[in-house]
Amino acid sequence: SFRALVLDQKEKSVTAEFKNLTTDDLPAGEVLVRVKWSTLNYKDGMVLNGLGRLVRTYPHVPGVDFSGEVVSSTDDRYKPGDEVVLTGWRIGEAHWGGYAQLARVKADWLVPLPAGIDASQAMAIGTAGFTAMLAVMALEDQGVSTKQDGEVLVTGAAGGVGSVAVSILSALGYRVAASTGRAETHQYLRDLGASTIIDRNELTDTSKPLLTERWVGAIDSVGSTTLAHVLSEMKYHGVVAACGLAGGPDLPGTVIPFLLRGVKLIGIDSVMCPYETRVRAWQRLARELPKDQLQSATTKVALSDILPWGEKILKGQVQGRLLVDVQDC
Ligand code: NAP
Repeated sequence: SFRALVLDQKEKSVTAEFKNLTTDDLPAGEVLVRVKWSTLNYKDGMVLNGLGRLVRTYPHVPGVDFSGEVVSSTDDRYKPGDEVVLTGWRIGEAHWGGYAQLARVKADWLVPLPAGIDASQAMAIGTAGFTAMLAVMALEDQGVSTKQDGEVLVTGAAGGVGSVAVSILSALGYRVAASTGRAETHQYLRDLGASTIIDRNELTDTSKPLLTERWVGAIDSVGSTTLAHVLSEMKYHGVVAACGLAGGPDLPGTVIPFLLRGVKLIGIDSVMCPYETRVRAWQRLARELPKDQLQSATTKVALSDILPWGEKILKGQVQGRLLVDVQDC
């Protein structure tokens, strides 16, 4: 048997319990993986607390991403011992996820671990870091370059997506402005490479459709008034990658920045992202994300201690990335 965190629904509330399961309990799939590491993402916080109607069927094993080693496979692409990483495809929401010591999944969902990172680094990156790389790639695809005169803004900078975005952008040679609501993270953000730190309260005014041009690009994890404000501060032809909604799902702005400055708003989705893009993003993360910074952005916790962290992430109290040791349970 193996250990798993199992969520169940009693009346309207969701309960969480660590249980011993056997492989017979696992869903169908081609590849059985020994899960070594998972992470805590904002979405995991929602699932652990039964929010957002993300999980429709209980009992449920949460964990929207994991890394580990193939135990057995009926698909030719994978053999025992292969190291793999899985993010998205709605695991941990519609399908059982990574908060269990074994997972059985579709071969199509897996990505072989790229050379240059190990399984724990892959989950120190996790869905958040993978999303940050997709956002950087989107800015590049739309023409944002280090040769331009100006800074790239990262909002929610001390969070998971934000921290990795700051680190990648500065490693690539961009000048990075980091917006945060937590004064205690300023030094941390400077260490990741931010050259300007902005209090997030300065990025909420939506009373004017256009403000002084400030940013050549932006990676936003916050949404709502923050995203609306950022759009109004973009330079001519500036590009915003919208990744998240930590501040709310609304967008209370105007179309004026699109019409008068040709601003581009690009949506980032890590969940259904095609395989080729995944492989490219993981290879770039392995090469371009500074490993020492990744380590300083990462806190390791045992799976057995995950529940209180699920509440903290919803309150915006997690700094950087949380690496979950799934075998420690
Ligand atoms: P996280 O670690 O909690 O980071 C979110 C950060 O947003 C917080 O650390 C905080 O940063 C800031 N924040 C929180 N509440 C806020 C508020 N009310 N107003 C303004 N800023 C606030 O979460 P994460 O895992 O990085 O995820 C960030 C967002 O991206 C979430 O909405 C998540 O659902 C989304 N996401 C999307 C994808 C995708 O595929 N599109 C993938 C992963 C995550 P400071 O303390 O620095 O202010």
